[in-house]
Amino acid sequence: MTHPDLSPATLAVTAGRPPRVQGGPVNPPLVLSSTYVSTGAPAPGELFYTRNDTETWRALETALAALEGAALPALGFASGMAAIAAAFSLVPRGGRVVMPEHSYGVALGLAHELAALKDIRLTLVDIADTDAVVAALGHGGRSSGAPTHDEPAAREHDEPGGQDGPAALLWIETPTNPMLEIADTPALAAAAHAVGALVVADNTFATPLVVRPLAQGADVVVHSVTKYLAGHSDLVLGAALTSDEALRARLAAYRTVHGAIPGPFEAWLALRGLRTVALRVERSQANAAEVAARLVGHPGVVEVRHPSLPSDPGHARAARLMAGFGSIIGVRPVGGAPGADALVDRVRLWLPATSLGGVESSLERRRRFATESLTVPDDLVRLSVGIEDVEDLWADLDQALRGRS
Ligand SMILES: *Cc1c(COP(=O)(O)O)cnc(C)c1O
Repeated sequence: MTHPDLSPATLAVTAGRPPRVQGGPVNPPLVLSSTYVSTGAPAPGELFYTRNDTETWRALETALAALEGAALPALGFASGMAAIAAAFSLVPRGGRVVMPEHSYGVALGLAHELAALKDIRLTLVDIADTDAVVAALGHGGRSSGAPTHDEPAAREHDEPGGQDGPAALLWIETPTNPMLEIADTPALAAAAHAVGALVVADNTFATPLVVRPLAQGADVVVHSVTKYLAGHSDLVLGAALTSDEALRARLAAYRTVHGAIPGPFEAWLALRGLRTVALRVERSQANAAEVAARLVGHPGVVEVRHPSLPSDPGHARAARLMAGFGSIIGVRPVGGAPGADALVDRVRLWLPATSLGGVESSLERRRRFATESLTVPDDLVRLSVGIEDVEDLWADLDQALRGRS
């Protein structure tokens, strides 16, 4: 916001600092106060109660807006899911949402719940298939509206004939979690706007160091700040960003009345973590590309997914639209789901845990969760590659895949 000409790597360090005054602190103070001295009607922007606004949020919100290239400050939320729920509140009642079939599982769960309540109608798509998504935006059908075998969720929650009419919201995740499909965001955003749909992008996986969805046509960006932005697996926090005053006002009102607010300490800690995000993302992406390349052809591996691999279905599009390939790898070890569980059990350095985007490398078999989409392979292990020495990471993964521990 203040220095739009600076690169994101610089803005991550400089944005959201207090004014440079003699004797002033270089970091924003952590203010722990539930209320503020206030008489009369608070002036616009005046702090009066911590569920509405705090100076500690503002420092983080300024920095996130600078990173994402948003014209307005971000809105911090209690978690990524709180930000996602706020974004869904932008859909008019009964509006149709077009969403990747491999979106983040809990976001999908929320969409299914809203569809069951008839608050929204839901059409699930392969977000990498641009023609199919464009068709779905217009009239809801992947193949002229006819239900297909691989669209059970979409079929289940759409009213009979209810797929008619243009979409109200296009949800984008790029890459998707955990299948790593790459959306053609500029083309999809243009098609969505042509039918009057809002575009929301969950930029958790890519981070603004790799792609800035607002510049590619998204109206709103949401984040699980929990992951790369904060980066140390020590807090849960979310954010929503937009350059549209009216949308931001609606998201802010949602946050206040639903109480979906971050704690000041989490916001302060997230900004501290954010200062190193460029270094962390750079290192973890380099590690991920190296690990992915070595996994190809490993005797213990059936399939590897990472957009850095020239053979990956998302490679060309990611190379065109993104400044990197991310640090999440999908790997299917030999031996099916038991083989995948054995891999997770045998690692010593990689951490068996859910979540991602911390400095430490972690892994999990996604289908261990009953809620995970059935189109995610049962034996898929998602690797979140951290910033450790890549040779140490590789040695541990190699021994675990070979089953010699
Ligand atoms: C983790 C995650 C979320 C949810 O964020 P929380 O902070 O855990 O609520 C949303 N989207 C993606 C892509 C995620 O990885």
